[in-house]
Amino acid sequence: MSNMIEVSDLQKSFGNLDVLKKVSFNIQAGEAVAVIGPSGSGKSTMLRSLVHLEEITGGSIFIQEKPLVENGKYASGASIREITASMGMVFQHFNLFPHLTVRGNLELAPRMLKRESVKEIMARSENLLSKVGLAEKADVYPAKLSGGQKQRVAIARALMLNPDILLFDEPTSALDPELTGEVLRVIRQLAEENMTMIVVTHEMNFARDVADRVIFMDKGEITESGTPEQIFDHPQQERTRMFLSQES
Ligand code: ADP
Ligand code: MG
Repeated sequence: MSNMIEVSDLQKSFGNLDVLKKVSFNIQAGEAVAVIGPSGSGKSTMLRSLVHLEEITGGSIFIQEKPLVENGKYASGASIREITASMGMVFQHFNLFPHLTVRGNLELAPRMLKRESVKEIMARSENLLSKVGLAEKADVYPAKLSGGQKQRVAIARALMLNPDILLFDEPTSALDPELTGEVLRVIRQLAEENMTMIVVTHEMNFARDVADRVIFMDKGEITESGTPEQIFDHPQQERTRMFLSQES
């Protein structure tokens, strides 16, 4: 099996605050990995580092065997763009462009890249909107959508560039509880289609059902990882047990 993501000794500081302390993990092709842990433990910073939204202070990140950063030294700008283009990211707050329709949100990046015809791009946006159950919302502006619909648009948009890896940063944390299900169903379907993904989530039931592996982070470190059964039913660390007892 090949490593889609290989992180070793990742360190990140903001000033003198050490947010990530030698974090190491691998993600294999087709794996769905859930990252759980207390607020402030560095989950978002870790995810953002993978797509170069944060510059790390030390360590290495390989994406599909290519070095994004190796022993703290970044690849060239062109290589960084090429490597990170294989990843899509979905944020807690959707980050849709408010002045573009749903279709416009999906098509903006591929149209700017001009790697394929407008016809192909339009066909794919229609397909992806159907896939997330929003075919009829193509010409609507984001302001007219519910939070759950916005997040499904954001997922479809992330899929427009045919990513090999999807990263989700608490995709349901900004949603009313009754809207989380529709978003989690879409993510679950992608996992079942063997999309390689990392999902930072507070939805423990979802992590248990969907993840192949669960990583627990606390205070900038991975303190425990394993199968959902190992983490949820037989946690080895007191910190994991404490966290899980507060979450449920
Ligand atoms: P999590 O996603 O697990 O809640 P974060 O990665 O968002 O954790 O944050 C980890 C720590 O890094 C927190 O203490 C947070 O305040 C700090 N942090 C995050 N981003 C910045 C930043 N841009 N500048 C300074 N500190 C930051
Ligand atoms: Mg976060």
